Amino acid sequence: MTTVIARNEGHYNVHKLPYAKNYVWCPRCVLVECDCGQRLVLTPFNGECKCGRDHTTLVREELAARGSEEGIYIPWRDEYRTWLEGEQRHSEHDHWLEWRSIE
Ligand SMILES: [Zn+2]
Repeated sequence: MTTVIARNEGHYNVHKLPYAKNYVWCPRCVLVECDCGQRLVLTPFNGECKCGRDHTTLVREELAARGSEEGIYIPWRDEYRTWLEGEQRHSEHDHWLEWRSIE
């Protein structure tokens, strides 16, 4: 029996680089224990276990149970993206000022 262990809402992972921050979008995913005993992190786009079992339907149903992604998450995401762009522009400006003061 395939068991759903955990669900993960979509979020941004922040990777800090020396001169910038990199925001990587992590899609919503589900942690599943397959019949074969493997624990897998699956997304609606990658729902297959190494043993060949396809859990895509299960993953989609699990994520759909949390509500439609359209209408709830996309407006928020656009707003967040605009904010991120502003933040990135701001930090570039700060770095430019730092470079100026070194010279
Ligand atoms: Zn399996």
